[in-house]
Amino acid sequence: MKYKHLFGPVHSRRLGFSLGVDLVPFKYCPLNCVYCEIYSTDHLTLERQEFFPVEEILAELRHFLADGPKLDYITFSGAGEPTLHSRIGEIIRIIKEEFPQYQLALLTNGVLLDDAELRKEILPCDLILPSLDACRQESFEKINQPHPGLTAQKLVEALSALRVEFSGQIWLEVFIIEGINDTPEELDCLAPAIAKIKPDLVQLNSLDRPGSEEWVEAAGETVLNRVKKYLVERLEMPVEIIAKSHPQNFETHVPQDIGEAMKATLMRRPSTAEDLSQTLGLHINEISKFLRQLNLEGKVDIKREERGVFYSWKH
Ligand code: SF4
Repeated sequence: MKYKHLFGPVHSRRLGFSLGVDLVPFKYCPLNCVYCEIYSTDHLTLERQEFFPVEEILAELRHFLADGPKLDYITFSGAGEPTLHSRIGEIIRIIKEEFPQYQLALLTNGVLLDDAELRKEILPCDLILPSLDACRQESFEKINQPHPGLTAQKLVEALSALRVEFSGQIWLEVFIIEGINDTPEELDCLAPAIAKIKPDLVQLNSLDRPGSEEWVEAAGETVLNRVKKYLVERLEMPVEIIAKSHPQNFETHVPQDIGEAMKATLMRRPSTAEDLSQTLGLHINEISKFLRQLNLEGKVDIKREERGVFYSWKH
């Protein structure tokens, strides 16, 4: 079966071995974050829709999970904001009913969670990973370039309400951009907001792949450690820095159709040859052969960054 909505399983820095489920078309999102690793948002929207039929998504999941593959998580993520799918609640409920042995994670920017009905729909998840990069409106707009009408204050309120209602784990991501959200003024606003949300864990992130805006650079270790120290002294929950990608011997699931698997990954996640080798469980020489061919066919964009040469699927 060719998968349109599933990708991976990929080795994620935060979630271990994770099967991605993509519920929305390419770059439908209420935000246009300057650090987004999957290009700029061309459909900046708040409108929830049934972009793809629920049965189509479930058919792929049932097929993939039929043999009971070992996974750390099934994760809603991909090339847009998953909560924009108007029937995500039904998909979550059915997966939990049919495959209770799997942990379900939701990667979300959280901005639609001011909708009490939507919050109720996502309660069966085991782990929710929302983002809060700034709580001053000026910085929120600079970093996240939101749909008009969205405010940082509203996001903080929505995530606080989620905390009250959701008994699973919440890991809050804060993406640090030096000079914008690492100043004392910013952190003095951010720390009380995080205290109010009460996540189980705060994860500081920084650029690991090319961002949508050229000027965004990875925050250095000194900056990340300074921000971490500042937050640790003011918050009662653990704060950690998300580790950079580096090759390890993870359990992998060698795909049957390597070309399709590479396309599915590169459409949603720019990757180096080493990333792909690790994710897909294939020797680097084989990956390099495929990448050369894709490049000759003009199917991939190539960007040289500090961590290596990144390939992404041309849209
Ligand atoms: S990082 Fe996430 S929330 Fe931000 S633009 Fe990209 S997909 Fe949307």
